[in-house]
Amino acid sequence: MKAPDYGTAPARVYWELTRACDLACRHCRAEAQRARATDELTTTECEQVLDGLAQSRPRPHVIFTGGDPLKRPDLVRLVRAAVARGLGVSVAPSATLGISHEVVHELKQAGVSAMSLSLDGPTAAHHDAVRGVLGCFGWTLAAARRIVAAGIPLQINTLVTADTEPLLEDTVKVVAGLGAARWSLFFLVAVGRGSILPPVDAVTCERRLRWLAMNAERWPFVVSTTEAPHYRRVVIQRMRAAGRSNAEVAAAGRGWGVRDGNGIMFISACGDVTPSGFLPLAAGNVRAVSALDVYRYAPLFRALRAPTRLKGRCGACEFRMLCGGSRARAWAATGDAFEEDPLCTWQAAGA
Ligand code: SF4
Repeated sequence: MKAPDYGTAPARVYWELTRACDLACRHCRAEAQRARATDELTTTECEQVLDGLAQSRPRPHVIFTGGDPLKRPDLVRLVRAAVARGLGVSVAPSATLGISHEVVHELKQAGVSAMSLSLDGPTAAHHDAVRGVLGCFGWTLAAARRIVAAGIPLQINTLVTADTEPLLEDTVKVVAGLGAARWSLFFLVAVGRGSILPPVDAVTCERRLRWLAMNAERWPFVVSTTEAPHYRRVVIQRMRAAGRSNAEVAAAGRGWGVRDGNGIMFISACGDVTPSGFLPLAAGNVRAVSALDVYRYAPLFRALRAPTRLKGRCGACEFRMLCGGSRARAWAATGDAFEEDPLCTWQAAGA
């Protein structure tokens, strides 16, 4: 089975507009701060980056994240600017009282395609404890209801750690009750403040991915994983075991092959371009070179798109084109972004 070629255009651009955030959760990847940094990209610089991204074919989808992108007073202007350039755009705000009816309405009018919120447990006690912010669970539910009521597709992101994993059966009920369009499970990568949290082990992860694959078709929302691309391997193995044809398996594979640096790029608040938000290796800065050129030509990005560069079990794996493992986790675990992903149990025959 062939994976799409993401060599000339990323499918998704995650863009940390600011590191400022009123929550500053205890496991924050961005190590968020209360105040905006003085070296953030200006509105004009952001619009120039959007000009460059709009040259890409196909055009990527841009996800404005943070910190809290709502801390930027020009957020709505930037959403409009992206949409005017033909770019799909989503917003991933922090769950604060700032997500008012008015703000949601403004974002809707500006043309936002989707919004996402984090929900890391089924109750206030669980969620607020994970994030270290009292009241966050209630703000999340209130914001989710406003987003859904406005007719904006809602994505719920759930962090998977050794603490949150046993609660997923209950968490999914809350996700369904909110009317989410997508549930994305983010499997912890120990970077930033996230390194204080306990990750799940590979066996537990495998069991959870099988549970996801088994239930995904009956849930009223799309299921995806972040930093656990081997969910694709689990889905393929399940489909093959059920006697599904190669054509059916291929048809189910939207987004397969996407991983850090291959179909994904990340722009930090000060313009550094990295393969993802969880692989903090800057390959250039948009103040000096276009984001698209970094994605296409920087040696790090080119190497990450070459499955032949993968090592260990990922290098020997028959699923490496469609999966390829989390390059961020490989880097966090070993210091080498091309090593095998330690969260996967798969051992290819002969490897
Ligand atoms: S061994 Fe690596 S490439 Fe193969 S399924 Fe696991 S994570 Fe993916």
